[in-house]
Amino acid sequence: MEDTFKHQALRKNLVQELKQKGIKSIAVLQAIDKVPRHLFMDSSFLKFAYQDNAFQIGEGQTISQPFTVAYQSELLNIRKGDTVLEIGTGSGYQSAVLSALGAKVFSIERHKKLSDTAKVMLEKLGCTVKCFYGDGYKGLPAFAPFDRVIVTAAAPYIPQDLLKQLKTGGILVIPEGEGKTQIMKRIKKVAENEYKTEEFGNFSFVPMLKSTDWDNKNI
Ligand code: SAH
Repeated sequence: MEDTFKHQALRKNLVQELKQKGIKSIAVLQAIDKVPRHLFMDSSFLKFAYQDNAFQIGEGQTISQPFTVAYQSELLNIRKGDTVLEIGTGSGYQSAVLSALGAKVFSIERHKKLSDTAKVMLEKLGCTVKCFYGDGYKGLPAFAPFDRVIVTAAAPYIPQDLLKQLKTGGILVIPEGEGKTQIMKRIKKVAENEYKTEEFGNFSFVPMLKSTDWDNKNI
């Protein structure tokens, strides 16, 4: 659980790199500077923790690339105290960044092991994140509506339940598409049943699976 000067210096370099790549939000850059990404990775990957790359975190899943985490966080435009639903806890790193931005995060993960591991680390770091094991397509109706929803896996389509669980004025950020790359979309709920969609570049995510997919594979 160490965060040494070396780690902190590497993080400052990463922040500069993300700035050069186009991240503008000071709040997001500060959050990246604050969260010890290496604690969300396997010890054998520690020396790569502050490179701008995705890495394996077990169960065939990855911790998102820092640029992608920063980009999605910037699109979400978090205000302190916002409630945020995240689909795909994975390592917990994106949740920790949202917490550092002042959000109250509710994060769902379909892999029990990943969910449990992320929960322990997020608690140790004092992050305002509640972890749930379950199917992200369904969202969390019991805690809805949310100010923001972020999907961190490739969605084949926009899940209606997630739109329903947004507050009016709320924002959903979601990579949509089934192939190798997805289009990053930002969907604003402008009124009940009225949405405004913007598109932002191509990204590459692991698939958002349906519960039927994992029932069949017995995961
Ligand atoms: N936000 C993560 C990125 C994890 S990759 C991080 O910062 O590390 C995407 C995650 O979405 C994977 O862990 C995968 O298991 C999970 N996932 C895929 N389909 C899902 C679903 N239907 N419900 C919940 N989680 C899902």
